[in-house]
This record gives sequence, structure tokens and C-alpha cells, in this order.
Amino acid sequence: MTRLRSAVFLIPLVASIVGVASGCRPTIVETSDQVFRLGTALRISVRSTGDAHAAIDRAFSRVVEIEQKMSVSEDDYETTELLEVNRAAGREPVAVSPDTYAVLEAALRYSELTGGAFDVTIWPLVRLWGIGSDDPRVPTAERLAAARNLVDYRRLELRPGETVYLPADGMGVDVGGIAKGYAADEAARILRDAGVEHALLDFGGNIMVIGDKPDGTPWRIGVQDPFDDRNQYIGIVEIVDRTVVTSGPYERYFVEDGVRYHHILDPETGQPADTGLAQVTIIAQHSIDADALSTSAYVLGLERGLALVESIDDVEALFVTEDRVIHPSSRGADSFRLTAEEDYTLAGG
Ligand code: AMP
Ligand code: MG
Repeated sequence: MTRLRSAVFLIPLVASIVGVASGCRPTIVETSDQVFRLGTALRISVRSTGDAHAAIDRAFSRVVEIEQKMSVSEDDYETTELLEVNRAAGREPVAVSPDTYAVLEAALRYSELTGGAFDVTIWPLVRLWGIGSDDPRVPTAERLAAARNLVDYRRLELRPGETVYLPADGMGVDVGGIAKGYAADEAARILRDAGVEHALLDFGGNIMVIGDKPDGTPWRIGVQDPFDDRNQYIGIVEIVDRTVVTSGPYERYFVEDGVRYHHILDPETGQPADTGLAQVTIIAQHSIDADALSTSAYVLGLERGLALVESIDDVEALFVTEDRVIHPSSRGADSFRLTAEEDYTLAGG
């Protein structure tokens, strides 16, 4: 299994400035940097009239700060706020920062909204499977049952004063399904505060854009082909000041005895979710919502996932089923243009 390890320090891997002269208007330049964080490559690309490296550095520093608080990877961190919360399970409440508390609150809200298909206390199962670790494994039925019993968002206590308590030893929280979205929102906020009006943030395929493009047209975002490698698209969505987040089994998995086991777990069975979906893409204003919803909808499956998306204002979705049919939510159909017509069909189209 391949896994990108986060570097200990912020290392800009790409630093390019491409000038685009445009008549007598001020010259727009593109500044882009990339770092490895949150277990993936994060890229920020700003289009502005001046060098934006300082603003991008600040945005990445904010992402690092979030990772250092919320990672539950013991390979990467000796301690973080959430590792402390998990270690204190069954013993005592732990005080966390407003950042971590806000993400846990949002994660708990989505846990409630999905009746536990998304479950912020999924950690015992994630740890058991070793998803994202160097040593993933298929657990025994006995250990799986024991871990499943420890997963229950209703037992997570978020107390006034930003204190978090898990009532049983072995319980644990994991914000891997939502924190990347929070980080993208925060990075975008920092860029906006620095005066950035046009930018594209690509956090491992989770896209967030600031404004439109400098020429006044929307950003055109390719929707990943779930059955092809990273740079193949099934179609395009056009967005301004929005985010496009996709969840799919190909993001992180391992193979044992010819069977592929992926990282999005169904809390009910304890197994990788198997609902006939190849991927779910969510288009929304805030990346934290899109991130939580794409993971949620993937676990819920087409019917219940679509119902969830339709019940929330200003959120669109594209579900791709394993038979290569794309099922858009009612408003999702307007913003999506299918380009891979030979391989995919649009439901209701
Ligand atoms: P994503 O890539 O955003 O769809 O999130 C997948 C990650 O969320 C996994 O790597 C786990 O850290 C975590 N996760 C897996 N299953 C669930 C679940 N049912 N509810 C909440 N988080 C989950
Ligand atoms: Mg997610």
C-alpha cells in the first residue's frame, strides 16, 4: 500500500510564477506551492497581480497547525489533542482548542444527521484495520465485533469549556473524513484575508476555489474518473467561490488475498462500505460540509445519500454507481457536464 508521509516541516515543492500578459490591464501572475500534509499532496494556486508566496505560506502554516492538533496518526505524531482525547478514554475529559472542538462539533452533527453512517467515533475500527498505517490487515470476526461495540457517536461528550470525554477505554475519535475540508476552508479564509481574489486549492483532489478566474469566467473542475488514474475525468463542473469534494474507495486501500479493502468503513458492519457506489462528489460552499457529506453519502449509498443531499440547502451531488451511471442530485444536473460519454451515462439524461 502506498502512503504519503507528511513532512515534518513545511517544504514548498513547487514554486512557479507564470506571467500572463493581458492587454493594458495589470499583469496577472500565477503563484503556486505544494506541500505534503494531511496524508496527501496539497496545492495552492493564486492568480494575482503580485507575488503571493507569503500568503500561501501562511495558509499552509494554518493547515500544519490543524494537522498538529487533530491527527490521530501515532506514526506521525507523538501527541496531538485528539491522541490525548483517545488516550484518556474511559478515564478523564480532555480540554482541546477551539479549532478541534469546532471540528468535533461538526463531525458529531453529521454523525447525528446520518444516524451514525458517518460516525466521529470510528477510530477503534480505523485502528483495527490499520487503514492509513504501514501495516493494514483484515481483522478477525471477534476483534471486529469488539471494535464495533466501541463505535457510538452518542457516547461522545462535548462539554462546555471545550472539553471532550469518551466514556469507555478503547473508544476514540477520528476526523479523517472531515478535517481536510476544515483545513481547506481555513486556508481559503487566510488567503482571502490576505487580499487574494482568485485562487484554486487542491487538497488531494478536494477542490476549493476563491472567486472566479481573473478573466471573469468560472473555474472548471474535472470530476475524477473512479475507474481510471488520477488525471482522467468523467466530466466538468463550473464553480465560483465553491468547493468540490469526492470520496471513493480508490483513495486509500490495501489488497489481501486478492480482495481490495478500502478506508471508508460502515460502522454497522465494521467492514469497508459496500453500497454499489464507485464514488460520491459533493459541491458546496464550505469544504467542511462537502468533506463530511461525501464520506457520509458514500456510506449511506445512492438512495439514502441522495435523500440526505436533497434535504440540505445549497449542496449538490454526483453519485457514480459501479455500473458507470452518474446520478446527479436535482440541482447537480445543471452544474455538471459529462465529457466521458463513451464510458458513462447520466441517469435521467
Ligand atoms: P474521506 O476520504 O473524506 O471520505 O474520509 C475517509 C476517512 O474518514 C477514513 O480514512 C477514516 O479516517 C474516516 N472514516 C472512515 N469511515 C468513516 C465513517 N463511517 N464515519 C466517519 N469517518 C470515517
Ligand atoms: Mg470526507
